[in-house]
Amino acid sequence: MTSVVDERVTDEVEALVAILMDDVTIRRVGNVPTVIETVVNPSTGEDIDQQYVCVTLEVRLTPNYPDASPDIVLRNPRGLDDELLASIHSQIKNKLADCLGQPVVFELIDLIRENLTACNLPSGQCVICLFGFAEGDVFIKTQCYHHFHSHCLANHLISGKKYYQEEMDKLPNWQQVQAPPYQPCCPVCRCVVTTDVETLKSAPPPVESVNAPPFRVTPEMLAMQRKMSHLLARQIARGGVVGSGNLGPRPLTITTAADAVANNGPSQAAQEAAKPETAANDQPGNASNDCNEPGSPQRQAYRGPYRGFNRRGKPGRRGRGAVGPR
Ligand SMILES: [Zn+2]
Ligand SMILES: [Zn+2]
Repeated sequence: MTSVVDERVTDEVEALVAILMDDVTIRRVGNVPTVIETVVNPSTGEDIDQQYVCVTLEVRLTPNYPDASPDIVLRNPRGLDDELLASIHSQIKNKLADCLGQPVVFELIDLIRENLTACNLPSGQCVICLFGFAEGDVFIKTQCYHHFHSHCLANHLISGKKYYQEEMDKLPNWQQVQAPPYQPCCPVCRCVVTTDVETLKSAPPPVESVNAPPFRVTPEMLAMQRKMSHLLARQIARGGVVGSGNLGPRPLTITTAADAVANNGPSQAAQEAAKPETAANDQPGNASNDCNEPGSPQRQAYRGPYRGFNRRGKPGRRGRGAVGPR
């Protein structure tokens, strides 16, 4: 299928490909360009190692582009906080309004690059220590464009390796041999991190952590703690917390003898299973042997996300837990 493409668009796409080469992706439907995508970095000359921030610009061309504005998406921001992204978005909006009727992709790349160059230092926090990046901090940018204090990443990688080894020691020999080898990975996106831990280790701890006042429990924290424990109790009571000791529901659906009958027909096993349940039920005339009866001291009704599925993973009869009175 071929369609007539606006010459302004053809020229723009041609120029983008000629200049950005592999760094730009043009998606088309037939011969019509629909999406232009490129990663924008700050200007640092040839020194790629000094680029601490980046963002992927996706320009979705609307049918009447450039007489109508394209839709702009900024994806995978690295080292940029929400405030800066919002600012870039609003500048883009103004730029689109100014440039209506003419190709705008180069203008957008320039605008974003200017912003990135002006703040070519990661904003936000180091996700390991939750302190920010301050002057004097030694930090590292991973291949996946995530930033950490070198000190923090060293500790993370060292304890990751230790944990791997501990888990490995629990396995029998034949499983140890088959297990994948330890790979240091980014705590944010799990991309493999290739860096020398020994060098990272020599970095000083984050400046803000050194200057932070000593930790003490504040009344706000205590209030938050009370609020959260109340929420947790409520979630446990509702079956929303899986595997929390004996307090909550079991991770698997609790099926009853009645379920077994419904799924497989009566069997000896089901009858056997029914006996203790009936005994536990202090209503003699009740033939349902439903262990999920509210108030039963033996088991609580399972009200978790998998109710309605039986142990074999097939959709089964919805248990009493789903419809019983609350
Ligand atoms: Zn840190
Ligand atoms: Zn990462």
